[in-house]
Amino acid sequence: MVQIVWFKRDLRLKDHEPLIAALNNNHDIIPLYILEPDLWRMPDLSFRHYRLLCEGLTELNQACERAGQSLVIRVGAAINILNDLCQTYDVRALFSYEETWNDWTYQRDIKVRAWSHLKGIQFHEFKRNGVVRGGGSRKAWSQQWLQSAERAISQRTVCFNSIESLSSDILPTPQQLGLEHDGLLDRQSGCRKDGLGLLDSWLKGRGSDYVSTMSSPVTAYTTCSRLSTHLSFGTLSIREVFQQVTQFKQQLKCMPIQSRPIDLRSVNAFLGRLRWHCHFIQKLEDEPSLEFKNLHPLYDRVRQSEFNQSYFDAWANGMTGYPMIDAAMRALIETGWINFRMRAMLVSFSSYHLWLDWRQPALHLARLFTDYEPGIHYSQIQMQSGTTGMNTLRIYNPVKQAIDQDPEGVFIRSWIPELRDMPDAYIHSPHLSPSKMNGYPMPIVDEVRARKHAAQTLYSLRRSVEHSQLSKPIVRRHGSRKKLRSVSKKKPHPDQGALF
Ligand SMILES: Cc1cc2nc3c(=O)[nH]c(=O)nc-3n(C[C@H](O)[C@H](O)[C@H](O)COP(=O)(O)OP(=O)(O)OC[C@H]3O[C@@H](n4cnc5c(N)ncnc54)[C@H](O)[C@@H]3O)c2cc1C
Repeated sequence: MVQIVWFKRDLRLKDHEPLIAALNNNHDIIPLYILEPDLWRMPDLSFRHYRLLCEGLTELNQACERAGQSLVIRVGAAINILNDLCQTYDVRALFSYEETWNDWTYQRDIKVRAWSHLKGIQFHEFKRNGVVRGGGSRKAWSQQWLQSAERAISQRTVCFNSIESLSSDILPTPQQLGLEHDGLLDRQSGCRKDGLGLLDSWLKGRGSDYVSTMSSPVTAYTTCSRLSTHLSFGTLSIREVFQQVTQFKQQLKCMPIQSRPIDLRSVNAFLGRLRWHCHFIQKLEDEPSLEFKNLHPLYDRVRQSEFNQSYFDAWANGMTGYPMIDAAMRALIETGWINFRMRAMLVSFSSYHLWLDWRQPALHLARLFTDYEPGIHYSQIQMQSGTTGMNTLRIYNPVKQAIDQDPEGVFIRSWIPELRDMPDAYIHSPHLSPSKMNGYPMPIVDEVRARKHAAQTLYSLRRSVEHSQLSKPIVRRHGSRKKLRSVSKKKPHPDQGALF
């Protein structure tokens, strides 16, 4: 008799509840990863995601080998792979996490559940990062999430019996999956050990100015934790990060303030963000249509019929003529990461100044973010595009952001070589010195006019009776801001981007 532990976006052996539950049953275990080519052909996935996955799998395989049985990697549709294994082995149960990811994985899980029912194979699914499937109580969510984050992590040693004749398929090359190189030159590692190293270095000093420096891309690459890619692929769990940081916080409290490597404010801000991570994934779990549809239906009337492909191309390639927008996009293309404020600004510019419907920009950014996490991504995209109908409209002025976040043009010059020799006086508005542009484009829209047009159109829509009527059920269903804020009893940080 064997059991299958099916790894998805939980590429680790530590703090893995499905694995521990399977080990408790004392049957042999097949540790399985299914590489699903159809998933990798979806428009939100990319070459860079695949490279990270392959790294995570290599390391997971090594950990499984040390525990007695290599990771079994199979390539194909989940149900075909599971059927194949059932033909060779007496499979009694399947263990996995519930996955709140994109619509494709959601539909696949429904099929696998139906398959297990038909086959009479027990399918044990576990909550991932405190996200509740099937609409739990919104009132009690924060409390339940905290309980889940604080629950003791099993210290059981993972030990597999080796199963004869189990083999793995060879992973396809990115090209075989239709994934072309996408400009990434300097990405983070996908290995768990590097994720643990990031956490350690952040706590021991890198995060010391976290709150005051997270908004500027000049500092954020160093002072933000950079753990998002690991949390997204599950090489680290939210719980283990939460517990390690909470323990460290207790130690900090015993140290004299001047010898603390990081202040309590930064630690608290970070812990709060771990909860937001799960809060937004819960949103997508509760409202899967967020991936495709405006949360507020009245926004179906704006931006729809006029997608300007040349604006989109300029934005997507860092050629808008606005240096902060272009530097942020080019940095993202090369590194796979950019900080929250710049992400929000990029979306704000495409949705308001360029008046582009959010769906294509969202896919473009999803492919570029190595930490792509649909729950956070689509919630943020809709908030920054103003289509929730609930959150304050925040239209970022890209010139003001450049002056505030990169006053000396350090970030701009490092990502836009055309502007390297631009005098300081013009670095935020280079078009005012056209002779020194070196091929850098003129602004594709007039910033002030475009911002005013967006604000006027959207505020007049928001003032309409129809808007407020259609908002009521949305606020009833999603308007949890007050309650969530009252948990922290603090004014939200501007880079919280508000919760809904
Ligand atoms: C348009 C847009 C799209 C985004 N898409 C993603 C995405 O696909 N994946 C993703 O992980 N984050 C996304 N974010 C949120 C945020 O920008 C990143 O989580 C953060 O920049 C990751 O860097 P870090 O790990 O250094 O974060 P830190 O600042 O060190 O924060 C620690 C962790 O808290 C969580 N976190 C931080 N900020 C937020 C936030 N505002 N909302 C929810 N969780 C947060 C992340 O898991 C992060 O790893 C998006 C933000 C915007 C505005």
